Amino acid sequence: MRGDTVRIDVLGVGFDNLTLAEAAERGMELLHTEGARYVVTPNPEIVEVCREDPAAREAVNGAALVLPDGIGVIKGAAMLGTPLKERVPGVEFAARLLERMAGEGKSLYLLGAKPGVAELAAERLKERYPGLRIAGTHDGYFQDDGPIVEDIRQSGADAVFVCLGAPKQELWMARNGPATGARLLCGLGGSLDVFAGTVKRAPKFWRDHGLEWFYRLCSDPRRLGRMIKLPMFLIHVKREGRKK
Ligand code: UDP
Repeated sequence: MRGDTVRIDVLGVGFDNLTLAEAAERGMELLHTEGARYVVTPNPEIVEVCREDPAAREAVNGAALVLPDGIGVIKGAAMLGTPLKERVPGVEFAARLLERMAGEGKSLYLLGAKPGVAELAAERLKERYPGLRIAGTHDGYFQDDGPIVEDIRQSGADAVFVCLGAPKQELWMARNGPATGARLLCGLGGSLDVFAGTVKRAPKFWRDHGLEWFYRLCSDPRRLGRMIKLPMFLIHVKREGRKK
């Protein structure tokens, strides 16, 4: 599926220029295609990590779908003169996919977050999406990949949500995707916490005004250290834009 569309480059990360609906459609196509593919949803912070870390950049660009999570990426692409259609937050992409997967009785493995969260998310998702099968769950705090990969393979899951934070989850999917036997792996950061209800998304007003990042900062001030990357991202985009 890679190479179907021209990717829009934002500081070395190539984004697929798709709406949320188109991205979900593409995700379902991948689920019906032989072979393991993975989806990533980078925000400006991850783009900045990729600028400094070639292994992370390779893992991110190696995804079958690279979706722009976060208003910053949309602004950055516009500033570079190559606008993207719309923001595609990972958690919303996941919700669309879950609806479709439930309709087809597909099975999902949930990997990541603190012990107990994936199980709770599984219960909530089964209630919310009747027909969805949960193949298995595992928390995101483990030493060896081997036993987890084997557990996923044994479970026969069609898809895996890999929620280990970035760039850990992107590296994990690039390294282990094919061995899991699943067709689609999605790197979704803190989504399991949202599905489990342990973390709330920003209210609609904040999301509609591109302020979800600010809401998240207010609810978890420890994110400040990470968020310093956002102004750096904008500075780098401006610099790149001038070169054009
Ligand atoms: N996490 C994990 N294993 C780790 C580090 C983090 O499972 O070794 C989980 C963490 O518990 C959280 C998620 O990864 O559920 C990352 O959430 P964060 O809000 O940082 O991700 P974002 O959505 O901002 O990318």
